[in-house]
Order: sequence, then structure tokens, then C-alpha cells
Amino acid sequence: MTKIQQTLNISALKTAAKTAYSNAYAPYSKFYVGAAALTKSGNIVSGCNVENASYGLTVCAERNCIAQAVINGEHEFQTLVIYTEQEKLTPPCGACRQVIAEFLEQSAIVTAVNHLDHQISWTVKQLLPDAFTPKDLE
Ligand SMILES: [Zn+2]
Repeated sequence: MTKIQQTLNISALKTAAKTAYSNAYAPYSKFYVGAAALTKSGNIVSGCNVENASYGLTVCAERNCIAQAVINGEHEFQTLVIYTEQEKLTPPCGACRQVIAEFLEQSAIVTAVNHLDHQISWTVKQLLPDAFTPKDLE
């Protein structure tokens, strides 16, 4: 993938993540998050965080985004973008890192962006070194 294609993908993913962000259901924390991922087949899927009065049932944007792809029959991803309107960029939580490691290659890039056009990227391996993955069940 060329640098230009990556830039276009990040831009489209940021737009999709921002749209998902606008639908986030976070009445308790007020911490709204959107995520979008590019599947291996080139589709963009997105998700937002969905909180619950029973707090432990809250599901993050990243996991809802990945679940949306799985619902559509896709299990492989090229990259994932997380959008917030926090000044400090938001990395995925531990639970999401485990789910990301299930579906994205260790070398895949995860990028956090915000409304100020700040961005930071990590590889999946940086987010969760020595991850427990499906290969550990073989
Ligand atoms: Zn999370």
C-alpha cells in the first residue's frame, strides 16, 4: 500500500469513526468514542461505545466496530482508527487490545485521532506484546 493510499484510508476511516462517535451512547461517562476499521476486502465498518446502567455491560467502540464486521461475515482487517474529541489521544483499553489482537495482524496499525487532527499510531504488537491469539490454541 502506498503512502497516498494510506492517507486516503486514514481520512475515510477518520470520517467514518467521527460519524460513529456522533452516535455514541455514553450518558454515564460522557466519554464518547467512535471507531472505524478497514477490512481486508476494502470495506469500512464502524462502531461506537454503548454504555449501560449496569456499567460492566458497557462495550467499547473498537469491539463494536469489529463485531459489526463479523456480523457482515468479515474477520480480517487492514487497520483500525479510534476517534475522540479528547485533547489527549485515546489508546484502546486492555479488553479491546485483546479483541484487536484476535482479528488484526501483529504488524497492523491502530491509530488514535481527535478533533484537533492530532494522531498517534501503534502496531498491534506494541499495544499487546506476547498476545494470546488463536495460534495459541493450535
Ligand atoms: Zn475498550
